[in-house]
Amino acid sequence: MAIPTLNTNDTEDKPMSKVMIIGAGGVGGVVTHKCAQLPEIFTEIVLASRTEAKCQAIAAQLSRPIRTAQVDADNVPELVSLLQKEKPELVINVALPYQDLTIMDACLEAGVHYLDTANYEPQDTAKFEYHWQWAYQQRFLDAGLTAILGSGFDPGATNLFTAYLAKHYFDEIHELDIIDVNGGDHGYPFATNFNPEINIREVSAECRHWENGEFVTTPAMSMKAHYTCPEDVGTFDIYRMYHEELESISKHFPSLRRAQFWMSFSDNYLKHLEVLENVGMTGIEPVEFQGQSIVPIQFLAHLLPDPSTLGPRTKGRTCIGCIVRGVKDGREKVMYLYNICDHESCYQEVQSQAISYTTGVPAMIGAKMILQGKWRQPGVWNVEQCDPDPFMEDMNLYGLPWKVVELNPAFHLDIAQS
Ligand code: NDP
Repeated sequence: MAIPTLNTNDTEDKPMSKVMIIGAGGVGGVVTHKCAQLPEIFTEIVLASRTEAKCQAIAAQLSRPIRTAQVDADNVPELVSLLQKEKPELVINVALPYQDLTIMDACLEAGVHYLDTANYEPQDTAKFEYHWQWAYQQRFLDAGLTAILGSGFDPGATNLFTAYLAKHYFDEIHELDIIDVNGGDHGYPFATNFNPEINIREVSAECRHWENGEFVTTPAMSMKAHYTCPEDVGTFDIYRMYHEELESISKHFPSLRRAQFWMSFSDNYLKHLEVLENVGMTGIEPVEFQGQSIVPIQFLAHLLPDPSTLGPRTKGRTCIGCIVRGVKDGREKVMYLYNICDHESCYQEVQSQAISYTTGVPAMIGAKMILQGKWRQPGVWNVEQCDPDPFMEDMNLYGLPWKVVELNPAFHLDIAQS
């Protein structure tokens, strides 16, 4: 299942590792900070985005110089000419999911490795699916280039937590519950912790979970559970929803009988979302307004606080992890692997809240894995197909330490209809 690990000495004699980060939002800021902290790996950094002033604002926060550039990542020729001019070894795509395919096309044309944190989604259909990107497998193979998909936290760390548990603690895994709790508070009545348009499209979509070899569809937010996090993070209502890593994990771990994703939401958040949905503000179809065509969700995103400005206001901790049930040596067991991340500590380190931090750090580590030759097999790969061990070691070193505990086999989430 794992990609054969390449010789890590492969790049030790290679001094130059120039990286281009595309997207200067909340996540882009964290990735840039974290790459800048490792000059021996990321010897040169270019930060490119639609609005160069945002790249320059991030560059001004750093203690080492980086280059910035303006680029429209929807435009392949523009991307190719920037890549040919800058000649990076790798692109870290932290723009929006809409740009995944154009950036992959440009990487193929310019001969550059690729990594992202979210799967492609067409702007006019709220569908998170991997088939568009998996279809690039042969082209990346033929070009001898690596594309790593979904190296954020979820997807990303959660896929690797699953792979790590499967590798070290089980002969076969049967059930997976990914639990994403944000115990933080930014003080706004309603704001999203990452790009509002993508966030709202995700949480208002129908729920799908994996059960007995197929995806089962249920209404959005219709199932919930109370969940008490470890280390006094608190007790939260978590809701079952579709999340993109379920598609790749259920494919790459065919022994899974059930895989579900849960996220915490406050009553306040859900009430706002319900009202916004009821009045049509979350719609993705254009509507005519005073002679102009506007997309309601884009207008709503414009009105909501920019997630990259939430850092100084957010207090509390996140707790994201995977509970896996399976068998080892004929015995049923349940393991829980999780990370807890403090919003205020993230802000002190990289001027960002923990949601962008927990996405940006795994993106940096995934990029480091490619540049060091540890995950550099030509083709298109989801992170759980790669060796989890060096990634997990780096999580502990670079700001996202994790713990693994064994739970009582009698453990079950107290699931109820909401
Ligand atoms: P933001 O909206 O804060 O930032 C997106 C950035 O991309 C902005 O700087 C934006 O430019 C830029 N951008 C958008 N369109 C283009 C374009 N056509 N050309 C060039 N640049 C463009 O989003 P986040 O930082 O919150 O999220 C970034 C990515 O991370 C998203 O894909 C999101 O889905 C993903 N994510 C993944 C998570 C995970 O755990 N796997 C969790 C959270 C996010 P401008 O500033 O000009 O608008």
